[in-house]
Amino acid sequence: MLHSFIFLSLFALAFCTIDLEKALVEAFFNETYPETAESFLPEGVSIRKCTKPDVVALTVDDGPYVSMAELLKTLDLFPDQKLTFFVTGVRYKNTTHNPNNPKLIEQAISKGHDIAHHSYGHQNYVTMPEEMMKQDFQKMDKILSGINGSSKVFRPPFGNINAAVKQYVESFGYQIVSWSADSFDWKIYSGSQPLESLAHVTQGMCNQDIILMHDTHKRSPDVLKSLLTQFAARKLRSVSISECLGDNVVHKYKTNGQQTYVRRP
Ligand SMILES: [Zn+2]
Repeated sequence: MLHSFIFLSLFALAFCTIDLEKALVEAFFNETYPETAESFLPEGVSIRKCTKPDVVALTVDDGPYVSMAELLKTLDLFPDQKLTFFVTGVRYKNTTHNPNNPKLIEQAISKGHDIAHHSYGHQNYVTMPEEMMKQDFQKMDKILSGINGSSKVFRPPFGNINAAVKQYVESFGYQIVSWSADSFDWKIYSGSQPLESLAHVTQGMCNQDIILMHDTHKRSPDVLKSLLTQFAARKLRSVSISECLGDNVVHKYKTNGQQTYVRRP
């Protein structure tokens, strides 16, 4: 197993594909790479890669939760690295972990990170009744429209989406973004894997990858620090989703509910 892993790691420096990430994960964790719903989506349903070359986009889902404040402090250690928080309404409204979520979100935007839509209640949009899905989506959209500078980028809960949901979301001017690489942070937290495991997993990450991680555990800031340290060593620069999408138009809200259009050079 070790030999195949070393071979794959060296190979990873030259080529970057989802198959390679899969091979690395299987070699290191010695188990089958989990198939997500995303794996079965036809091409073109969601954006999975940055259009801008020479960057990656780290994305943190499911907050603001236990680690939001610490994640921002960790990001301060890497001023050139930016990311996107895909937030949910339930977490934003629940201030048990972060008594002042609005301030944290504001702080994130002021430092060049993006805040985007990850639904209100984090339910499966594909299986829930259509009317409920619409209400949930609009409820979160309303919250974001009151946050100056929040982005009109949507990531469906669990990555689950179908044609009807896609059409509905896009009718609000949102771009739908999933991911091309998984940090496997959830695996590191929940199992006995040490943080060093990330060094092996990230070998499979390459420019233009959109990378998935989560704000669901207290180890998140350590995971983020580990990832960013490795990115710096590999000359990978993480940018916000707005920048990652390059020439594409990214809608951003002003606090009066109006949207502005940001077109990056
Ligand atoms: Zn989620």
